[in-house]
Amino acid sequence: MKAPPFDYVRPATVAEALAHLKQGGDSAMVLAGGQSLGPMLNLRLARPTLLVDISRLADLSRTATVNGTLAIGSAVIHADIEDGKVPDPCHGLLTETAGTIAYRAVRNRGTIGGSLSHADPVGDWCPVLMALGASVVAASAAGERTIAVADLVEGILTTSLRPGEIVTEIRIPRLAATARWGRYKICRKPGKFADAIAVVVMDKAAGQSRVAIAMPNHRPVLLPQAAVHLLALKGADRDGLTAFRNAARTELAAVGASDELQLHILSAAAMRAAAHAFNR
Ligand SMILES: Cc1cc2nc3c(=O)[nH]c(=O)nc-3n(C[C@H](O)[C@H](O)[C@H](O)COP(=O)(O)OP(=O)(O)OC[C@H]3O[C@@H](n4cnc5c(N)ncnc54)[C@H](O)[C@@H]3O)c2cc1C
Repeated sequence: MKAPPFDYVRPATVAEALAHLKQGGDSAMVLAGGQSLGPMLNLRLARPTLLVDISRLADLSRTATVNGTLAIGSAVIHADIEDGKVPDPCHGLLTETAGTIAYRAVRNRGTIGGSLSHADPVGDWCPVLMALGASVVAASAAGERTIAVADLVEGILTTSLRPGEIVTEIRIPRLAATARWGRYKICRKPGKFADAIAVVVMDKAAGQSRVAIAMPNHRPVLLPQAAVHLLALKGADRDGLTAFRNAARTELAAVGASDELQLHILSAAAMRAAAHAFNR
């Protein structure tokens, strides 16, 4: 199928883009890399009358580090993060994540801000950024606000972004030297939807840990009890990891993982991510 007809604008500044979105109202949409929106248009699952192309806005393609926090422009493409053109203050977690998104053609166009805004339940960025305690800046004609990534994705393809808002920046706190991370993605083939993505970040010295899980039928979740359990582990011994997996499984069942098979897949991914964190 072909996309329905729409008007297209490529503004020169963020302010201009926001003005177009305000004028276009509910039927205007942001276009970034088009890797998710393109298919949605062709399948007529999205029917905007106006597309506001932000992919070439210089202000959204910059990165900066301020007080130990990395600010990545929302239009930065996955490939630039994969290639190390963006600093990675998270000991390689950002670079590894970018490199496992689909295949290079998708990574050459898809953007980090587009990925978060699209809110695919098994998008790669959301669980990673949740585990890192990252936030996004959302701008509209009315001003700016900051939203924790954990509060951004409310459901499958559903975010807390308001009409007329553009994600302009992703803010990622630097990981301490004492912090470790582990990530495990279960995906049958690159470019296909994942069955599970588990990300753990722990800093025993600071007493902090987060466990984030993404699954196909639910928004990504943080598992606070499993995170406490993780912090108490002494290392990657089998008994400790099995107890951690069971804690993750109990919490996943409570948030609604659908059946025994899915609980097994998700909790196994969590356990492997934890093992990676200890063995890294
Ligand atoms: C074959 C294929 C395989 C893929 N596999 C993976 C995968 O393994 N892992 C993964 O994570 N992703 C995967 N993707 C998705 C890819 O990462 C996309 O890049 C991403 O989901 C959307 O980014 P985009 O820049 O292309 O956004 P677009 O497609 O342009 O936009 C997506 C949505 O977000 C909105 N939007 C975009 N940017 C903003 C913004 N700054 N502010 C507000 N709203 C905005 C748009 O209006 C639209 O609703 C895959 C895509 C394809 C085509």
